Amino acid sequence: MTDCVFCKIVAGEIPARVVFEDDAVLAFEDLNPQAPEHVLVIPKTHIATLNDLSAAEAPVIGQMARAAAEIARDRGFAENGYRTVMNCNDHGGQTVYHIHMHVLAGRALSWPPG
Ligand code: AMP
Ligand code: ZN
Repeated sequence: MTDCVFCKIVAGEIPARVVFEDDAVLAFEDLNPQAPEHVLVIPKTHIATLNDLSAAEAPVIGQMARAAAEIARDRGFAENGYRTVMNCNDHGGQTVYHIHMHVLAGRALSWPPG
């Protein structure tokens, strides 16, 4: 999608601090980190929200989760722990309409979220 910021990162049109990449998934540091470690894991194909995920596309969520775990191991926070979050639509707090998994770590995170 031409006007999607995350598609532009996938295309290399906008710079990002990439921390992981495979055939289906790209991960990069969040511009506005909410924890000492804050990485976004995205599918390389444009899917606007979790509501739009088709059955055929569903396996990419597993690849995103496995990427998050690999990033956690590589960056050394797997043992202490981390949180993965996917925000959907307005009440979920979604601001970028290309699905993404937040990976937050480096401090104890409170629950429930605000
Ligand atoms: P959400 O509010 O769940 O849609 O999360 C969108 C996230 O994308 C926010 O945490 C933003 O800080 C982050 N973000 C937006 N634009 C960029 C960008 N160009 N590079 C890295 N992170 C971004
Ligand atoms: Zn996109």
